[in-house]
Amino acid sequence: MPQDPAQVETFTVGDEVTGSFRCAECDLLVTSPTENDGVLVLPACPLCHSESWRRVGA
Ligand SMILES: [Zn+2]
Repeated sequence: MPQDPAQVETFTVGDEVTGSFRCAECDLLVTSPTENDGVLVLPACPLCHSESWRRVGA
């Protein structure tokens, strides 16, 4: 399948990330903490239980 450069990279539960992410389903915003080197381990969405997240553009 060809790569679409406009496609937003998605992340899933358990990924260690930094920055801000929105739930792929309900758009809930989560942001990595400022402590612990700013690493956030992505949870399942607390609202809709989706396991997919997309990075919020800086
Ligand atoms: Zn959600």
